[in-house]
Amino acid sequence: MTDMTRTQVGVVGAGPSGLLLSQLLHLQGIETVVLERRSRDYVLGRIRAGVLEQGMVEMLKRAQVADRLSREALIHEGIELAFAGRRHRIDLKGLTGGSVVTVYGQTEVTRDLVAAREALGGQLVYEANDVAAHDFDSDKPRLTYRVDSGEHELRCDFIAGCDGFHGVTRQSLPRDALRAYERVYPFGWLGLLSETPPVSDELIYNNHERGFALCSMRSRHRSRYYIQCAADEKAEAWPDARFWDELRARLPADAAEALATGPSIEKSVAPLRSFVAEPMRFGRLFLAGDAAHIVPPTGAKGLNLAASDIHFLSRALIAFYEEGRDDLLDSYSEAALRRVWKAERFSWWMTSLLHRFPDSSPFDARLQLAELDYVVSSRAAATALAENYVGLPYE
Ligand SMILES: Cc1cc2nc3c(=O)[nH]c(=O)nc-3n(C[C@H](O)[C@H](O)[C@H](O)COP(=O)(O)OP(=O)(O)OC[C@H]3O[C@@H](n4cnc5c(N)ncnc54)[C@H](O)[C@@H]3O)c2cc1C
Repeated sequence: MTDMTRTQVGVVGAGPSGLLLSQLLHLQGIETVVLERRSRDYVLGRIRAGVLEQGMVEMLKRAQVADRLSREALIHEGIELAFAGRRHRIDLKGLTGGSVVTVYGQTEVTRDLVAAREALGGQLVYEANDVAAHDFDSDKPRLTYRVDSGEHELRCDFIAGCDGFHGVTRQSLPRDALRAYERVYPFGWLGLLSETPPVSDELIYNNHERGFALCSMRSRHRSRYYIQCAADEKAEAWPDARFWDELRARLPADAAEALATGPSIEKSVAPLRSFVAEPMRFGRLFLAGDAAHIVPPTGAKGLNLAASDIHFLSRALIAFYEEGRDDLLDSYSEAALRRVWKAERFSWWMTSLLHRFPDSSPFDARLQLAELDYVVSSRAAATALAENYVGLPYE
């Protein structure tokens, strides 16, 4: 027997995009049910991004989930670019007329969102298996899924596909409905998280002949470091001491000397990919976040794009339910994609500027250094970096 329920918006995926959408809609009196394949513990423990644009912070405030963020997050007014042995600061705040970025882990954002959804009695179904989307080209879409051995059907007005790059919603669209654009980079990032104070108060992006390195952080006591590695590298091949030695070798001397090392809490390899699927709407199914697009993490844009998609999607759904308008639903894909493509461009540019490519020649390496030198010495070029890094406007 299939258990049948109804809601207004069926959300697939309890990542940041699905949780944020559910919370924003709930606050406007719109019902949602979130179906998540993984367990609650898994969702709460997942370690990913950590740099939030101001637009995303504003959205978290609007979603009433920013109290802890306001107390604990670190405000960064600049970043550093390091190359040819020297460090150069990009004054994000000064160059953008006051904009900054906020350092607060995606893990914490997720915890705050889950806590808020639970406090408001939101319906989150964990370990929902075999989720499948049906009839989204009609006005009666459905989601079917299994929990343990029970079969369930969720009837809804709309489906939000917030289920990440490997999710099921994008794949349920007819093949000819989507056009995909993709670039896979010939390297990955090996990341290490440690309970150590960050080497610097601000992030350092390092271009080095041994490969890119990033000094990042999640708090004043917790550091996140990355080094460029082969795409098929295995994290197990990197005992902590080997990682720290390699990182030190890629940093300017003063940073290498100041680096505090300690045991890793987590270590993993992430592939680097640019991907966009267009359009982001098919009938009554809307894609958002990583389900529709991926960026290499160099520009710190993946999580922020998930939030900006939800800005456009929540606004469109609220206008539909409160005012009976569907013009914003009709323009959702176009509005979201305009911003997505600019972030794709920026993330590709940062990646190209900072990494060693297997086929790059000495000429290419000198061009990278010349461009970096231009970026740090021209106010116009530094401003272009800064305004993209802090996040372009939502409209
Ligand atoms: C290893 C890693 C490291 C990253 N590091 C950075 C970084 O440093 N900086 C940065 O800006 N971005 C980073 N990102 C990207 C950033 O984390 C994502 O852009 C962000 O999580 C997107 O949010 P989302 O909600 O759209 O998707 P996700 O966070 O992927 O959430 C999707 C959810 O859907 C669930 N799901 C999947 N399939 C199904 C299904 N069939 N049925 C039900 N539920 C399903 C998943 O379990 C997950 O909970 C990283 C991503 C990864 C994978």
